[in-house]
Amino acid sequence: MTHDVVVVGAGPAGLAFAAALAGSGLRIAVIERQPASVLADPPMDGREIALTHRSIRALQELGAWPLIDAEAIAPLREARVLNGGSPFALSFGSGDAERLGQLVPNHLIRRALFRVVADLPEIEVLAGQSVASIDGAIGNGAQGVSVSLEDGNRLEARLLVGADSRFSFVREQLGIGAEVNRLGRSMLVCRVAHEGDHQGIATEWFDHGQTMAMLPLNGRRSSAVLTLASAEIAQLAALDAEALGAELTRRYESRLGRMQAIGSPHVYPLATTYAHHFAARRAALIGDAAVGMHPVTAHGFNLGLASACSLGKLVAQAALQGGDIGGGMLLRRYEAAHRLATRPIYTATNLIVGLYTAEHPAARAARHAGLRAAARLPLVSRSVSRLLMQR
Ligand SMILES: Cc1cc2nc3c(=O)[nH]c(=O)nc-3n(C[C@H](O)[C@H](O)[C@H](O)COP(=O)(O)OP(=O)(O)OC[C@H]3O[C@@H](n4cnc5c(N)ncnc54)[C@H](O)[C@@H]3O)c2cc1C
Repeated sequence: MTHDVVVVGAGPAGLAFAAALAGSGLRIAVIERQPASVLADPPMDGREIALTHRSIRALQELGAWPLIDAEAIAPLREARVLNGGSPFALSFGSGDAERLGQLVPNHLIRRALFRVVADLPEIEVLAGQSVASIDGAIGNGAQGVSVSLEDGNRLEARLLVGADSRFSFVREQLGIGAEVNRLGRSMLVCRVAHEGDHQGIATEWFDHGQTMAMLPLNGRRSSAVLTLASAEIAQLAALDAEALGAELTRRYESRLGRMQAIGSPHVYPLATTYAHHFAARRAALIGDAAVGMHPVTAHGFNLGLASACSLGKLVAQAALQGGDIGGGMLLRRYEAAHRLATRPIYTATNLIVGLYTAEHPAARAARHAGLRAAARLPLVSRSVSRLLMQR
């Protein structure tokens, strides 16, 4: 074997998994198609990640949290869901003491995790490399798996981990199917400066024909996230900064006063995915390759990090006890735990998105009634807050 573990994808999930194996004595290769210079200093990609308390703890344990510039971290005190013109708002979180979590730019999380991994001698990052094929099990007892790279090199390892995002090539090569929902809509994300004070409150507004979220950053700044049909988003993304700011102000009905675009917009086509299995012979899927969440509940990376840590812990334990790090039992345990952690929230998120973006009158009436009922049931909002905060 050239390595013990081969990870495909140096996104936040792949890097967190590799970092979780520090000190296990395993030799790890991480294959990433982007060049090393981009991994070391990733450009801003518009994503502001709402991290739960559990994820913050995980990043602390991996040594990545102190490497994130404290001034770039913004507290998330409360989240509100608004429906059309209805005055009923569903509110989660309760002010300062019970912060929902922290908002951190995605590129800074990636940079911090890469710095952790780059300092670990047992991890070799093969940047600027893509996987050409997964060549299946090797050895009489299928002790390992072989991976061919596009430059012609071949790696062999006892465990292969696919962390190569929601349209995972590794998943496809392993013959694992997935639920794939292409929603025909796209998200435009753009930082804005505004006149009003957001008070640390994130707002998700399901308006007729559009969904608009405002995520509070430090100072009078927010990340505006607008979801529309993909063709409309493409037109907005082509506007100059002044016209885009005016359009976002108009669409948000000046709730935060005049808004000015302070960065380039980024566009993400919306698709959700859920792999039929998270494990195959000597292989596992983590991060978006396993579960590609709808961004509306801000759980994609939180769940991806949980998958990286949970598989990392099982593999590190097996290594330290001299067990089989890619054995069927271990992989089935990982799969069962991650399915339990993700299936309910994945299904609930898709149902909510379906209900809140449907435009027929019955759906409008149902969500209006649903919000009114939920607003009167503190138990609902308390249990959702607990789920979001995951202390
Ligand atoms: C607008 C937006 C807002 C979001 N907000 C939140 C939020 O608030 N909270 C939250 O928890 N999540 C959020 N998410 C989701 C979060 O960004 C993702 O879940 C997370 O980035 C997934 O990490 P990953 O490592 O699995 O995949 P990725 O970040 O996609 O990384 C995959 C890596 O694999 C590499 N790769 C792919 N194929 C190959 C190959 N064949 N060979 C080599 N390398 C390969 C890619 O180059 C990439 O570096 C948001 C997403 C979006 C789009």
